[in-house]
Amino acid sequence: MGMGMQIISSCTQAQKSCLEVRGSGRKLALVPTMGFLHAGHESLMHWARKHSDLLVVSLFVNPAQFGPGEDLARYPRDLERDVQKAGKAGVDILFTPEAEDLYPPGYATWVEVEGLSSALCGRFRPGHFRGVATIVCKMFNLLCPHLAVFGQKDWQQLVIIRRMARDLNIPVQVVGRPTLREQDGLAMSSRNAYLSPEERKAASHVFQGLKQIREEFLAGKTGREELENLLREYYRENLPLAAVEYVRIVDAQTLEPTDPVRPGSLAVAALKLGKARLIDNILLQEGVIS
Ligand code: AMP
Repeated sequence: MGMGMQIISSCTQAQKSCLEVRGSGRKLALVPTMGFLHAGHESLMHWARKHSDLLVVSLFVNPAQFGPGEDLARYPRDLERDVQKAGKAGVDILFTPEAEDLYPPGYATWVEVEGLSSALCGRFRPGHFRGVATIVCKMFNLLCPHLAVFGQKDWQQLVIIRRMARDLNIPVQVVGRPTLREQDGLAMSSRNAYLSPEERKAASHVFQGLKQIREEFLAGKTGREELENLLREYYRENLPLAAVEYVRIVDAQTLEPTDPVRPGSLAVAALKLGKARLIDNILLQEGVIS
């Protein structure tokens, strides 16, 4: 649009603006975020802007996707900095709704993507993907984007959102984009702010381990358990500070364990390091780093 960025917190106002844009025949892209924006978010925005006429970014720390005892209260927030970054990234509408408006008293409707939501992170964060699917469905209904862009760092989330859009006939194209990384390979994440300097240094091993597994696969190892054990072993040696939640090699679409491991399988890991829960993944394929 190039008329400066609008910041809208009213749900009805945001919906009205987006419906107008859609009605005028312009192509609308959405990048949903929880804020505390970093270069990973910005890369999604740049891609979205290039492929649309109007870019909407939502900024909402969604209480429904946090379990009891998780980091909802201390999730990092910096609205002022986010507004600046969004402005620079060419965002047209920054949607900053309030939890009370999205989940008013009496709120009763939830989106459950069965199967896909109970694997991997779902086992350790019960209800998490129900919260994610619900808020993303609400964002789709509020903002009616033609396309919505998600990061491959949260691979399971991406697969679940795709399934939901298909299952519920939501007319949106769900796009997955590669993970942006720090120099040492650590996947960018708002939650990296929780890491102490020592933990931050060690955290590079999360991805180094996944890369090593990929090398082992490309060199000919195809036993799933063998590769998973190698990764566990790598983390035990190189990340003794961390508690591994899971390491798994799965089919990139169904998230079912793949035996034997094949090109297109996905190695995924989740670890707790200090106050941070870190997730990452890598596609086991020549020349592809997700
Ligand atoms: P979040 O604010 O963490 O909910 O993330 C918002 C969106 O940004 C999600 O689609 C994430 O997958 C994506 N994202 C988060 N970190 C990265 C990254 N390092 N590279 C690319 N996309 C990312």
